[in-house]
Amino acid sequence: MRERSRDLFERSLALIPGGVNSPVRAFASVGGTPVFFREGRGARLTDVDGHEYIDYVGSWGPLILGHAHPEVVAAVTAAAQKGLSFGAPTELELEMAELLTRALPSLEQVRLVSSGTEAVMSALRLARGFTGRSLLVKFEGCYHGHSDFLLVKAGSGALTFGHPTSAGVPPELAAQTLVLPYNDPAAVVEVFARHPDQIAGIVLEPIAGNMNFVRPSMEFLRTLREQCTKHGALLVFDEVMTGFRVGAGSAQGLFGITPDLTTLGKVIGGGMPVGAFGGRRDVMAKLAPLGPVYQAGTLSGNPVAVSAGLATLKRVLEPGFFDKLGRATKSLVEGLVREAKAAGIPFSGDSEGAMFGLFFRASPPASFAEVMQSDREAFNRFFHAMLDRGVYLAPSAYEAGFVSSAHGPADFEATFAAARQAFAAPRSS
Ligand code: PMP
Repeated sequence: MRERSRDLFERSLALIPGGVNSPVRAFASVGGTPVFFREGRGARLTDVDGHEYIDYVGSWGPLILGHAHPEVVAAVTAAAQKGLSFGAPTELELEMAELLTRALPSLEQVRLVSSGTEAVMSALRLARGFTGRSLLVKFEGCYHGHSDFLLVKAGSGALTFGHPTSAGVPPELAAQTLVLPYNDPAAVVEVFARHPDQIAGIVLEPIAGNMNFVRPSMEFLRTLREQCTKHGALLVFDEVMTGFRVGAGSAQGLFGITPDLTTLGKVIGGGMPVGAFGGRRDVMAKLAPLGPVYQAGTLSGNPVAVSAGLATLKRVLEPGFFDKLGRATKSLVEGLVREAKAAGIPFSGDSEGAMFGLFFRASPPASFAEVMQSDREAFNRFFHAMLDRGVYLAPSAYEAGFVSSAHGPADFEATFAAARQAFAAPRSS
């Protein structure tokens, strides 16, 4: 059915490890051959064999306005015509800094980078440099990019492929990262008691999206804030996924918790390589050239990439944007739950803003352990049944899903119709 995709994948396997440039793309978890795409427009993707799909991946989060949004394409084109990169400051970067610091009051200063990985790696180096301490705390199932210190009990592809702690990370480095269960306030209190004055910072996804979708409890978030303040550690919200995705104020605005540092990516680049980290002025002042913590990038603040991000954020920050998109996303999840229920399948869902989770278990999970109790085989069957009916979901049971402002009622109705058939399909299909 997808002959050209199969042919391209075969050829890629010979030259690119696993045939892909980022592991989850390989379909290794769900089985089968990855789909090669040739075009995206609005909510729809077209593959190289000419099949069309309703897209709920959105390039893993950035495309909150949908594919090839005319304003984003125009901004990128205009910027490209003026030069691709200068390696010197531009007014666009200032505009981005103004926009980000206005939208997120916890950001007193911000620096741009080119990926989420870089943003988190840099923020945590800064946390260590600022505090003069070495230990970091993260949570099981959270993914923060692929820098060495953070590939310890990680989520996303690291989890999907059974290597949550990557080979190639020296044990001495891995030992500097303490891993706690998500949503467990007592474990946070305890880790500070066990390592007084040694913890530089705690990093978390303030809604976890790399072990499917897990909400934090308010008690968990409040405990994190209190304990970090009490013990002089920095609280780092990794909002690479949730930033401008779950609401205009991101997760920190939603929950009313102020982190010391925030990392951003995905939506702020609108589909181009942009990341950012920022926060307290006294902490950011430790960065080179002002201070002793080094961080740099040849393409940081790249004008073409930043133009895509600015055009995207201008739309996203318009009043009412998330009211409408949040309602639409909720209706998608409710519709899918309704279809599963009608078919007698244990299934649940949750969403915040334009990010959602679907679970093959009776209720949404609150922890990594509960995520692991969901029926992965059922997801894999559902994934393929939906793909064959023109709905593109993330090819793993451990990823969140994304809706864009280009998705409309017709897309959702088509998705429900596909799901009705997928849920009714025999187990062997
Ligand atoms: N942090 C989080 C929360 C993420 O979801 C991701 C990417 N999925 C990253 C960091 C890494 O970002 P990138 O892939 O741009 O390096």
